[in-house]
Amino acid sequence: MNLFDLLGRVALVTGGNGGIGMGMAEGLATAGAAVMIAGRDQAKNEAAVAALRQSGGTAEAVAVDVAEETSCRAMVAETVEALGRLDILINNAGIGIGKRPEEFALAEWNELLATNLTGAFIAAQGVYPEFKRQGGGKIINIGSMFSIFGGPAAAAYGASKGGIVQLTKSLAVAWATENIQVNAVLPGWIDTDLTRRARERAPALNDRVLHRTPAGRWGTPRDLAGIAVFLASAASDFVTGAAIPVDGGFAIQG
Ligand code: NDP
Repeated sequence: MNLFDLLGRVALVTGGNGGIGMGMAEGLATAGAAVMIAGRDQAKNEAAVAALRQSGGTAEAVAVDVAEETSCRAMVAETVEALGRLDILINNAGIGIGKRPEEFALAEWNELLATNLTGAFIAAQGVYPEFKRQGGGKIINIGSMFSIFGGPAAAAYGASKGGIVQLTKSLAVAWATENIQVNAVLPGWIDTDLTRRARERAPALNDRVLHRTPAGRWGTPRDLAGIAVFLASAASDFVTGAAIPVDGGFAIQG
């Protein structure tokens, strides 16, 4: 038995049309899973699906705004309808709004929390009946180094990512006897559209990341592929409620 084999499994990846989500989707597809890409931008969704199919994977796309309850709930039903079942949920869709707390509008706070935290909860609620019916499933929530650390412009983002870790633990405890494993991944600094925008706003960020990361480099989306396969597969059947850094050592540097 190959512990990492995902043949016959179906994965739903929110924010799977680019960046970290796409890196994880590629990993899952390589291990044999069929992948549903879920994002707001249908052109980006279609491009991601085409890339996955080009490499021999099975993929479909659904347009969704995870910050909208109805849209987020519909995404699960559409995945099951299109791909026949659902075994793996990756709650990866996320946004960053880098502002000092005193400058944050409440609407911005609400938008960020709705996307990064509430969307993950709604999606988890959505997959639960499906997982229960099938006798198990895997949920992978994407946290951040701001799940652990604070920052002057990270009040909302850090609250959402700290919340993701605590949400992960409580879902893991609630659903453990139903063979549903829920874990969080905490990426370090990964080169994506999100961090490219942050680097443009704060040019010193690049040097700070290179200096502070023991590995001495930015991560790439493909650096997240292995952990996604591990947490989605039978290899992690006794791992639940964990928050695992994938950060080139960022979190353990003194
Ligand atoms: P990107 O900006 O490259 O990707 C974000 C993804 O989320 C896109 O696919 C986007 O698609 C989707 N998305 C955003 N808002 C919504 C929404 N409301 N509904 C559905 N999809 C949405 O960022 P990253 O790949 O860097 O980030 C992915 C995750 O990883 C985020 O949760 C982020 O917080 C986290 N992270 C990133 C780190 C990094 O260094 N890059 C470090 C730690 C954590 P679309 O625009 O089409 O909706």
